[in-house]
Amino acid sequence: MTGSDAPTGPRRSEDTQRRFDAVFCDVDGCLSPEFFGPADPATLAKVSEHNRRAHETGDVPPLTLCTGRPLPFADCMARIVGVRSLPIVCEGGAWLLDPTTYQWELDPGLTDEHLAFARDFGRWAVDAFPGAYLEAGKTASVTIFHAEGPAFLRERVLPSVEREIGARGAPFHAAMTWTCINVEATCVSKATGLDRAIARAGLDPARLAGIGDTMSDLPIRQRVAYFGCPANASDAIKSHADYVSPHERADAVLDILSRL
Ligand SMILES: [Mg+2]
Repeated sequence: MTGSDAPTGPRRSEDTQRRFDAVFCDVDGCLSPEFFGPADPATLAKVSEHNRRAHETGDVPPLTLCTGRPLPFADCMARIVGVRSLPIVCEGGAWLLDPTTYQWELDPGLTDEHLAFARDFGRWAVDAFPGAYLEAGKTASVTIFHAEGPAFLRERVLPSVEREIGARGAPFHAAMTWTCINVEATCVSKATGLDRAIARAGLDPARLAGIGDTMSDLPIRQRVAYFGCPANASDAIKSHADYVSPHERADAVLDILSRL
């Protein structure tokens, strides 16, 4: 195939003088608000423009996503910010989405038993805690919200969730985020998802950058040579950053990209 429709990947480091070959970016709190609310389409369009430039000229590193959000959400966000060829890590590492083939790959360590536990445990949580509801779209993990809000989840729900996981002897663990409880298989994480993405794309960690806003993004920090945070990031993850932008969310992502 020739011409403008040829399926070319991003230019590689040997073609250019750029310092980094890829940027792995968290979504909530980085490209979009942590709580539900409008994202900033003008800023996201600039991120997409960055990815277009990365694809066409190779003089800047393309950005892809590493998120706890389910695959359909990540698929949509990846299109908005113009991800073209780099794998997308979603559902906290459970899934990898390869945009070059448009194939979804479940972590090979996840079994039918893991998927059945996630499905059954979500049902248990909704029944056990009136007012609880689940994030739709997750298949290998469970994200529990509650009408009473995060404080109620932390104090009244999380201890029971942890006890129930233990009682069932399931290879899962529970963790509280800003807004919800994530129940995830112990064998997968953003770390394992990133490792799969890096291997699949043939990337060199010494030539990677990353962006994140909470300690759940520490695996990004640990796999990249340069890590930036938005101003709205938690103090804990800021202490691991090479650079903390004075800007928030997507404006910070643009700021960090401009420094690479
Ligand atoms: Mg985040």
